Amino acid sequence: MYDIIILGSGPAGLTAAIYAARANKKTLIIAGDTLGGQTAEIANLENFPGYMGSGMDWIQTTLKQATGFGAEIVYASATDIKWDGNFTYTVQCDNNKTYTASAIIMGTGARARRLEIDGARELVGNGVSYCATCDGFFYTGKRVLVIGGGNSALNDALYLADLASDVKIIYRKSAFTRAEAIIRDRVAARENIHPIFNTELKSIRKKPDSDSGELIATTTNGDEIECDGIFVAIGHEANTDYLDEGIKRDDVGRIVADDLPAGLFVAGDEKSGIKMQVATAVGSGCSAAMDAIAYVNTKGN
Ligand code: NAP
Repeated sequence: MYDIIILGSGPAGLTAAIYAARANKKTLIIAGDTLGGQTAEIANLENFPGYMGSGMDWIQTTLKQATGFGAEIVYASATDIKWDGNFTYTVQCDNNKTYTASAIIMGTGARARRLEIDGARELVGNGVSYCATCDGFFYTGKRVLVIGGGNSALNDALYLADLASDVKIIYRKSAFTRAEAIIRDRVAARENIHPIFNTELKSIRKKPDSDSGELIATTTNGDEIECDGIFVAIGHEANTDYLDEGIKRDDVGRIVADDLPAGLFVAGDEKSGIKMQVATAVGSGCSAAMDAIAYVNTKGN
């Protein structure tokens, strides 16, 4: 049995693991299938204080810190959490194992919201992608569309503009007011990025008889845009599928921390009200760990 189990291996989870393990609590990180969550996909993490480099390098160093203090890690995803009401949580995982602890910190973050239009689901991995840093390379010298108008869409467009010959950003509003000014200015300065405002897609299909896998994206106005790949960046949804329906969520599905049962804590992007940033995830991971440590300490009293 562990003192504290941490779900997730992004900035919130790994920070919580450093604090928990360094406080001499027997700590397990249930990392998910891969290390680092969305942060691992950041090509250039440039707004985390005191650090300049890739998201994955930051994640690996932070994991090393946590394991250096004794935290253990397992690569699996939680499918269910049960609580006996008396200092024992049981986490069921998709590796067919269960793990028990006195306290749980949930830091499973968020996943990319899916584009629900005709053809989008079928073409994932075959022209449609949710990860510019993973798949951008395959579109070197080609034409791509980015869907969305927030920081993620504009960052993806900037990343792709270094590889692709032409990047069009399809956005349903008339200006990128949602994104940070510094990112908007960078986009405006790139000659091969072309925003198409006030536009939404209706469907995506393969161009008939195309040997190179070209796509045709059709807008709700009926216009057709030819391209080689489509990158979707239309926001995020909290990863909370393993949680009971009885756990209170806010109107965008994130967990309301104040209403959690004793011993269950939340940090990072899945926590209601938090800004989705690496810096805020680190802060909330620290905070959740300190609360969990205090909670576990009451067990002996
Ligand atoms: P976001 O800010 O929620 O933006 C999502 C975008 O997708 C919006 O422009 C939205 O349009 C559009 N959208 C949503 N559903 C759509 C649909 N069905 N069809 C077409 N477009 C749709 O999400 P995000 O860009 O992923 O960012 C999430 C959070 O992470 C934000 O807090 C952001 O600041 C943060 N973030 C920060 C950085 C950074 O610090 N550098 C980088 C990436 C992300 P509307 O605008 O019309 O709603």
